[in-house]
Amino acid sequence: MDEFIKFLDKNLDYVSHEIIDNICYITVASNREEVICPFCDQPSTKTHSTYERTFQDLPIQGKKVITVLNNRKMFCNNPECKHTTFAERFDFLSNKSKKTSRLEDEIVRVSLNCSSTAASEILKKNVVNVGKSTVCSLLKKRKTYY
Ligand SMILES: [Zn+2]
Repeated sequence: MDEFIKFLDKNLDYVSHEIIDNICYITVASNREEVICPFCDQPSTKTHSTYERTFQDLPIQGKKVITVLNNRKMFCNNPECKHTTFAERFDFLSNKSKKTSRLEDEIVRVSLNCSSTAASEILKKNVVNVGKSTVCSLLKKRKTYY
């Protein structure tokens, strides 16, 4: 399982997983020793707190995947920096997103050749629970790429 998580991000470690009905819940943790402050680019090793963040990812073995991450909030030690704390960020997840970029790519790929209603039905079957309106907004967001 750790290998699957490393495909997503090498800075994450697999902790545990649980399969409930058709969904696999995977708990992961960051393995970064220091985190770079996004505001001043200085590294920090001091954790302020953690908060639970969940996001949907590509399915494994036909099971929908929800990943649970104890996201760290760090102190910024740089006295010049305007921010005293910041949240650890990951490349595969845009700031407020609940879906990984590779899952968004898959939703867009499925949706390109059918209606958003049909795409939502196809995706709900074995990829991800996603509504018609989410399909539409993702397509709009990515429109410039196609
Ligand atoms: Zn900073």
